Order: sequence, then C-alpha cells, then structure tokens
Amino acid sequence: MDTMDTMNPTNKSQPMEDLLAILGGSPRKEVITEGRCTSCETDSITEDSFRDALSIKEYTISGMCQKCQDDFFGVSEDGHGDPN
Ligand SMILES: [Zn+2]
Repeated sequence: MDTMDTMNPTNKSQPMEDLLAILGGSPRKEVITEGRCTSCETDSITEDSFRDALSIKEYTISGMCQKCQDDFFGVSEDGHGDPN
C-alpha cells in the first residue's frame, strides 16, 4: 500500500496553512469554513456565537468556539471570576 501519495500537499497553496495545521493538529481552515470547532462537537458556529469581535478573530486563529475559548483562556469578565 503506497501511502506516500497522501503526504504530498497537492491541495495546499498556502504553506502557512500547512504549518498551522501541524501546530494545531486539526485542519482548521475547513473546520472554520464549516462553522465547526476544533475542540468540541459544536457544528453550527456563526458570528452570533461569539461575545465580541475579538472572540471571532480568535476563532479564525484557533478554530475554537466561544465556550472552548472561555475554557481555554479563562473568563476574566467581572462578576464571573469565582471558580468553584
Ligand atoms: Zn468548542
């Protein structure tokens, strides 16, 4: 079985995307295009799914939905800083 063919980035025109995919461990670009999350099962993400423009921008970088961003970075909003 020749698996080497799959190693060729034939459909990749952006080397940076390859690098990010390797670093992130997920095909982020496809995930984001499809409105999914790289970290959980959420699959209907829209701009409305995010708290603000910064979170949307973060999604385009990390591919994580609002909830996962909160889990990952921690929620620093005042009034919700009480981890039980
Ligand atoms: Zn998520």
